[in-house]
Amino acid sequence: MESALQVAPPRWALSAFARLRSLWQRWFLWLILAVLVSALLITVVWLAGRHEVEQVQATLDRDTADAVSDLRIGLQRNAQSLRATQVSGMDPTRWPEAAASLLREHREWLRLEWRDAALRPLEAVNTPYRMRLIDEESRGADQSDVALACAAARKLGAPAYSPSHYVPILGGGGVEVMELCVPIDAGGFLVASYSLRDTLIELVGPTLTRGQEVAFTEADGTRLVALGTSRRTGTRVFTSQQLIDLPGAALMLRVDGWRAAPDLFPNVLTALVTAISIALVSVLVLLARDTRRRLRAERDLADALAFRKAMEDSVITGLRARDLQGRITYVNPAFCEMVGFSPEELMAGSGESIEAPYWPTELAHEYQQRQARRLAGGMPPREGFESVFMRKDGTRFPVLIFEAPLINAHRVQTGWMSAFIDISEQRRIEELSRASQERLQASARLATVGEMASLLSHELTQPLAAIASYATGSLNMLGPHAKGEQAEVAMAVRRIAEQADRAGQVIRSVHDFVRRRDRTREAVAPQALIDAVLPLVRLQARKLGVNIEVALEDGLPRAMCDRTLVEQVLLNLARNGMQAMDTADSAGGRVLRLRVARVVAVGGPGAEDARRWLEFSVADFGSGISEEVAGRLFTPFFTTRPDGMGLGLSLCRTVVEQHGGVLMFEPNSPRGTVFRFTLPST
Ligand code: ADP
Repeated sequence: MESALQVAPPRWALSAFARLRSLWQRWFLWLILAVLVSALLITVVWLAGRHEVEQVQATLDRDTADAVSDLRIGLQRNAQSLRATQVSGMDPTRWPEAAASLLREHREWLRLEWRDAALRPLEAVNTPYRMRLIDEESRGADQSDVALACAAARKLGAPAYSPSHYVPILGGGGVEVMELCVPIDAGGFLVASYSLRDTLIELVGPTLTRGQEVAFTEADGTRLVALGTSRRTGTRVFTSQQLIDLPGAALMLRVDGWRAAPDLFPNVLTALVTAISIALVSVLVLLARDTRRRLRAERDLADALAFRKAMEDSVITGLRARDLQGRITYVNPAFCEMVGFSPEELMAGSGESIEAPYWPTELAHEYQQRQARRLAGGMPPREGFESVFMRKDGTRFPVLIFEAPLINAHRVQTGWMSAFIDISEQRRIEELSRASQERLQASARLATVGEMASLLSHELTQPLAAIASYATGSLNMLGPHAKGEQAEVAMAVRRIAEQADRAGQVIRSVHDFVRRRDRTREAVAPQALIDAVLPLVRLQARKLGVNIEVALEDGLPRAMCDRTLVEQVLLNLARNGMQAMDTADSAGGRVLRLRVARVVAVGGPGAEDARRWLEFSVADFGSGISEEVAGRLFTPFFTTRPDGMGLGLSLCRTVVEQHGGVLMFEPNSPRGTVFRFTLPST
């Protein structure tokens, strides 16, 4: 129950959430990438720096080891040189000379002594490079350093050294000195005093002291002597220490090297890596900026697309795009609605054949030619052109087409764009207005004809009256008892008088009709109406070889009508029928059937309207009435005959309708036409 009550989140919230998620996903990836790249770069820079430090340290260690080995060799050689002075057999007169020459070669020595086995000095020679440094008295009675060295030498039977000790100089200050004691084969010792500072200068060599500091230190790190460049500020120090293990003494050689600051960029490799890292980060930043721009462009594009779609969907003009091969590539909803085909049908159909599904079959050929002309580059008229399309249900409708070349962003034509306006409604309105225009013109002509008829009837009344009175006069002159030829003349004159009278009546009726004066209707037997027109009908029938058949129902009521006008209607219909048979092939026989029967009116609702009506019909076996003619049959002045006026049927209908009846027609069987009209009966 609870779940049923849960309210689903609104749509906008869902879409906002989805947007947020996709945004987060995208930026999250970027974040991870940035973190990874930064970590990588920091590691690479750190490694490069460390590598550099290790390199420097290793070089320094190597140099120090080399220096130690040089030192050892040098000391060893010195000891050998010292030993070599006994070769001559230790002559007290010649030794000092040999010692002095040795001292000249070895600047690191301060003094050479020859001592006996009890370490008492026998001979001593000082270096010529210094003032007499060592005060004999300052060495002390025990001379512990020399004793230490010689004890070790005696023990080892080889040269040995004393630990370094400070010897004050006569002029003030002092030097750090180390004693070398070499046992003599003949007993006694040769003692050489090393100046540690000069040992560094002479035995370590200038290369090591360049740019770095070289020093002798005690094992505990106490500096004894130092040589070389002192440390500059803003540099990083690298230190290497090596033990010089000498018999009887141990010294440390310490080398302090330094490299210029900043330490972060100790060499080209690190600088290169850093430069690449900066470039990488810059690329990342640019990429991020580009992505942001792309996102904005994507959003703008989506908005533009949505706007375009809304516009296409709401526009009522049909739109269609075709490529240069005539295939439909796009249609909007309005076009689909216009022709009744779905976009898939329209686009798929044009893929196989060049014929569009909305082309009427009978015009397809013409349209194909038009399309071929267009595809060949023929420009359509700017003001558009009219055409006819077919809906899916087969109905045709007129359209107004505007076509224009479809130019893409590179100014290359890729096809044709067409706009369609369904103009069926416009056409219908035009047709209506044309028809009403025609009706207006016809009415105007009818009015003129009416005026003429009225004038004619007025003008004819007098001649007709004159004919009647001359006829009466002639009859009177012939007298009532005329015989022979005279009797025949009298008969003819009587007929003339009758026809003149009839003509007078017709003219009067027409006059009244035109003036729309209500005629007093009279009850006339249908037979009487037929009989009145029959002589004239027969006259024309004889001429055209037509048989007249008359059929009247028994016991018909009388018709309430204007006798003369109804006679004219009958006469007109009969004449039309006979003329139709005259023009048509008369193989089926030329018969004109006149009939009068009773009908039950269906005109009005209710029982009181169910009056008795008479139906008059005139049937022929003529050419019949085509559909085209049928539509305009009752239009005034419509005629198919060269000598026709086209007023007959129009007048007939007016007369019948004035009587409250209807005039209609239908095809006769097997051919021809039946005209029927109804009149009210008494
Ligand atoms: P008119 O006789 O002067 O031509 P109508 O109004 O009587 O004028 O007839 C109009 C047209 O109708 C005729 O031209 C004829 O084509 C056609 N028409 C009338 N009656 C018939 C008929 N019975 N059979 C065939 N066509 C007819």
